[in-house]
Amino acid sequence: MSDTRTSAGPDLLLVGGRVIDPASGTDAQMDVAIDGGRIAAVGPALARAGARRVVDVSGSLVTPGLIDLHAHVYRHITDFGVEADDAGINAGCTTIVDQGSAGAWTFDGFKAFVVDRAATEVLLFISTNLTGTLRGCRGGPLCQTPELSDVDVLAGFAARFPEIIRGVKGHSDSGGWSHWGNRMFEMSRACADATGLPLYVHTGELWKVDETNRPDPRSVMRDTLALVRPGDLLAHCYSCRDDGILGPLAAPQQELLDSLATGVHLDLGHGVNFSFDTARRMMDAGLVPYTISSDVHGDFYTHDNDTTLDYSLLGAMSKMLALGFDLDYVVRATTVHPATVLRMLPEIGTLAVGSRADVSVLDAVEGPWTWRDSLGMAMPGDRRLVPRLVVRAGQVHVPTRRLLRDVTGPWERLAA
Ligand SMILES: [Zn+2]
Repeated sequence: MSDTRTSAGPDLLLVGGRVIDPASGTDAQMDVAIDGGRIAAVGPALARAGARRVVDVSGSLVTPGLIDLHAHVYRHITDFGVEADDAGINAGCTTIVDQGSAGAWTFDGFKAFVVDRAATEVLLFISTNLTGTLRGCRGGPLCQTPELSDVDVLAGFAARFPEIIRGVKGHSDSGGWSHWGNRMFEMSRACADATGLPLYVHTGELWKVDETNRPDPRSVMRDTLALVRPGDLLAHCYSCRDDGILGPLAAPQQELLDSLATGVHLDLGHGVNFSFDTARRMMDAGLVPYTISSDVHGDFYTHDNDTTLDYSLLGAMSKMLALGFDLDYVVRATTVHPATVLRMLPEIGTLAVGSRADVSVLDAVEGPWTWRDSLGMAMPGDRRLVPRLVVRAGQVHVPTRRLLRDVTGPWERLAA
């Protein structure tokens, strides 16, 4: 990578890369000029004279800054959050969305200690629960209770911090159902209705189940579908959980197809239950995620521990390539689609002139690689997406790749 400085003109010129911007239908070798933190021009062979900094990105992919719609980065308050910049710019993403780690009562700390301090743009789908998700699924008293939810309090915070709070996070799983039936998820519905924000729904068994009242796995999804609306998202669409979106069924139930036809979206939410087998059955039925997200978080069973994390947004994108999706699709599902969910297009999610200069530069490294899912199934691949650099609001960052164990060998990660 050559990097030379001259004196006037745009602040930054990325030259020679393959620009993929699905929002504008662009897939061609082009240069990108950045000035004042904004995209100033995109075109073939832009004039280099006067550019203050020129970075040669030949051989790399240049995409709008990647958006990870599902991460957990409220470290030290939750016990499974990771450092925001490790899930963000150090993993090749310019915007990450924390899905429900903070609730109204814990929002102020989230803003002060995570959002305001990170180089990455950090947004929130606020938890239906006032405390947020303090602990993972490892037991202890359940805090996702209807008694600890308050629609008016949540709506007040959403109205006060609209730049950060972009949606509502709810859970619909056998554990919650066994304790309260639909009451908790109905609170999530009410929060989304009161705020006018999209509802992002966790699916698949997560919380401790009251075994004396375990629901039929299929009824959980039917009850969920009755409460989602166009623009909402169903997470973990390729999860192997029995009460998940597909579960063990060979083909999706009709209620799911009807719901998706109205404009409810699927999100990948890779996480700890991603399954190649489920993916193939869903793909056979034509069901693909609108957005690809990681659900990056620390270990649920040990305290403040990210050393076991073995998946990432770029890994999820690479696995989707291995499953047969094309590059345009995986970039679309991590740029223009999540930006649409966040109602932030064209500020982010595109390289349109005038949009914020958030850019990801990726290498599609060719060579044999083995992908694994949560069930230990292996799948061979011949391409992995690795972040080379990130431009965030016009500033260049070199990703450390610290948490990218799935797409890099140890020799490719910088020391933290
Ligand atoms: Zn999650």
